[in-house]
Amino acid sequence: MRDQILDAFPELHEHAKPALLFHPRLGDPGPGNSSIGGPLLWPEDEPWPTCSLGHHIDGAPPENGDVHFDDPLFLQPVLQLFARDLPDGHTLPGGADLLQVLWCPNDHPDPPDAFGLHWGPSLVVRWRSTIDITNVADEQPRPHTVTSYYEGLPACELTIEAVEDHPCIVDLPEETVHLIDEDAEAWGNEIPLGSTAIPWLTYVDHMGAREGMKFGGYPSYGPTAPLPMACECGAELEHLFQIDNPENGPIDLTLGRGNFLCVYHCPRSNDHPHRIRLQ
Ligand SMILES: [Zn+2]
Ligand SMILES: [Zn+2]
Repeated sequence: MRDQILDAFPELHEHAKPALLFHPRLGDPGPGNSSIGGPLLWPEDEPWPTCSLGHHIDGAPPENGDVHFDDPLFLQPVLQLFARDLPDGHTLPGGADLLQVLWCPNDHPDPPDAFGLHWGPSLVVRWRSTIDITNVADEQPRPHTVTSYYEGLPACELTIEAVEDHPCIVDLPEETVHLIDEDAEAWGNEIPLGSTAIPWLTYVDHMGAREGMKFGGYPSYGPTAPLPMACECGAELEHLFQIDNPENGPIDLTLGRGNFLCVYHCPRSNDHPHRIRLQ
């Protein structure tokens, strides 16, 4: 369908962005493997990150408010990505050769890395040079409490596919949207519309911003459109990766209102803080 849409509307080529689609499968990844939910190549002398924010806990009476634990709540690995595992021509930002992402798998009222108001997980993003890691931590602590929404994250090995991604329809120039909407002849001749009679809905269903776990590309459209976000340094944040249940995949998370979570980062420096958008 994508190729047919591109053939009918070649002007869409100029909006293509490279993306990496992750195809997770249940496995037994080690700390030296790219993985989702797997063990991390963590330096032995670096404390495992913990969360001390207030938490909303399943079944806790609302009058208890946000729960603070006496003992630290260890963060859980979400993604580990080695630059060497990326398809040819792809790199990690800033010359990093390892990206590690962990989260506290519980809901927090307005976690500090959230963009806008929401309840959701809080993330830690680490960029590394593997040459700096001389001794790897044997212990991989686990969080003592995981809200049911975030339980469906088993250790997965990854196949990584290089693809082209296209923006949500709301991010296309108005004249291109107009063209897609109006050019019934192009759609009618080239594209089997099936049950979808409205051309722009066909774009939304088959073209704009791929669903699933992906790195780079465009953020998906949720109940609200992606909004521009600025870093404290003034640069516009870029979409870094998306956490979403892959179709027929082994991951079963309930994110936000049942959609996905996008992580954004600053193109000027990996040291600038990330932001998350939860839909
Ligand atoms: Zn937490
Ligand atoms: Zn910045």
